[in-house]
Amino acid sequence: MKHFPIFVAVEGRRIVLSGGGEAALAKLRLLLKTEAHVTVFAPEPAPEIVQWAAAGRLRLQQRAMQPGDALCAVLFYAADEDTAEDARTSAIARADGALVNIVDNLEDSQFITPAIVDRDPVTVAIGTEGAAPVLARAIKSDLEARLPATLGPLARLGKAFRKAADVLPMGRRRRDFWADYYFNAGPRAMDQGGEEQVKTTLRAILDQHLNAQERDGHVAFVGAGPGDPDLLTLKARKALDTADVVIHDRLVTPAILELARREAILIDAGKEGFGASMSQDAINALIVEHAATGAQVVRLKGGDPTVFGRLDEEIEAVTAAGIAWHVVPGITAASASVASIGQSLTQRGRNASVRFLTGHDMKGFADHDWSALARPGEVAAIYMGKKSARFIQGRLIMHGADRATPVTVIENASRPDQRILATTLDRLPTDLAEAAITGPALTFLGLAPRAAEAQIAQSQQELA
Ligand code: SAH
Repeated sequence: MKHFPIFVAVEGRRIVLSGGGEAALAKLRLLLKTEAHVTVFAPEPAPEIVQWAAAGRLRLQQRAMQPGDALCAVLFYAADEDTAEDARTSAIARADGALVNIVDNLEDSQFITPAIVDRDPVTVAIGTEGAAPVLARAIKSDLEARLPATLGPLARLGKAFRKAADVLPMGRRRRDFWADYYFNAGPRAMDQGGEEQVKTTLRAILDQHLNAQERDGHVAFVGAGPGDPDLLTLKARKALDTADVVIHDRLVTPAILELARREAILIDAGKEGFGASMSQDAINALIVEHAATGAQVVRLKGGDPTVFGRLDEEIEAVTAAGIAWHVVPGITAASASVASIGQSLTQRGRNASVRFLTGHDMKGFADHDWSALARPGEVAAIYMGKKSARFIQGRLIMHGADRATPVTVIENASRPDQRILATTLDRLPTDLAEAAITGPALTFLGLAPRAAEAQIAQSQQELA
């Protein structure tokens, strides 16, 4: 971050701008929304500036800026659109002690003005450090559409009611009240009857929340998908938005944890002390302990919680404690991985079924129906298969599998550091060791990346 976003107090303070053309007008339209005293220096001001001056909205000096003109100013804008003049005026303003912005000159500016979404007193500032104005505009119009026009008045009325709402105990009860106001009852009241109705509604919902029973705890077992936050379901997003506690495993990426409600407590159940995993019993106890206090617990698991996720043990513990729960499915690693190599999990004429296997289970390397898996055309997604690669290879070949069977390993599927290793059953352990894979990886038996398949077909043609 080369620029740190802050909100500067400008009420009753001076902001000075030099310039009278288009650039000056664009900045003045923003500055006139503030409660600052704005002074403009412009030998030839645009007619709008003259009108604003006549209406008392700013002070206009129809001359070039001189030393001392920016004394006591908090901010200064050099907006003459003339390099030499901008350098001259900004030197004056700097000497006078103001923070300086030169329009369209990021290098020499001490601050930059963000794109603004104005729902005063709610203000959203968007900055890209000059890197992508198009992106800033897109984000701005997205937010303009998303934030109701009534948000400003709602926030102002809400602020005036804060003291009254303090009768609610701090924490979840109070947050629930405000969430109800801003996202539910408040906007509805504003639409129906304007500010007066909002005031009545505030008092009514405060009574409701005061009389409300303490909410029961709940556990949502949520699939976080393979790592790309865009692969979360909307339900997963909503669960994270409202969570009091998020208990996640090692597979969940930081980008996804970022989406949890800011006040939520995040607990990494993948680690304890110096990196050893928490036992399943300890995790079960942790989930129950938090939900029993009335918390909305999100148990966030990589991929889909129902695939090699030890979900049932957790559900049983929660049920035994009499706590309500539900499951939010996620995109499992196998789905994300086939997508990344452009293949299907099933294909007419090739495989009518697909197996999800684990490389190892509680007893060590997992046993499977090897002779069925060794048949040509079989497709299997092998989870947790890194360590057991040599074992799996040995069993399959012993049961008659073709050594040339394609095998693809996808590491970090859907993440920026995704890697694809296309190999064969014969070379699997060697290639895997050579690739030095450190992230989570899924091994596909019987699938090659689509592009590699095309290449193999082509080289076979060339050989023929
Ligand atoms: N519930 C998870 C699987 C948990 S088992 C799911 O549905 O995906 C953990 C194994 O999943 C890892 O050892 C790895 O084989 C696989 N895995 C999870 N995320 C992955 C990813 N982003 N890329 C590749 N494999 C992944």
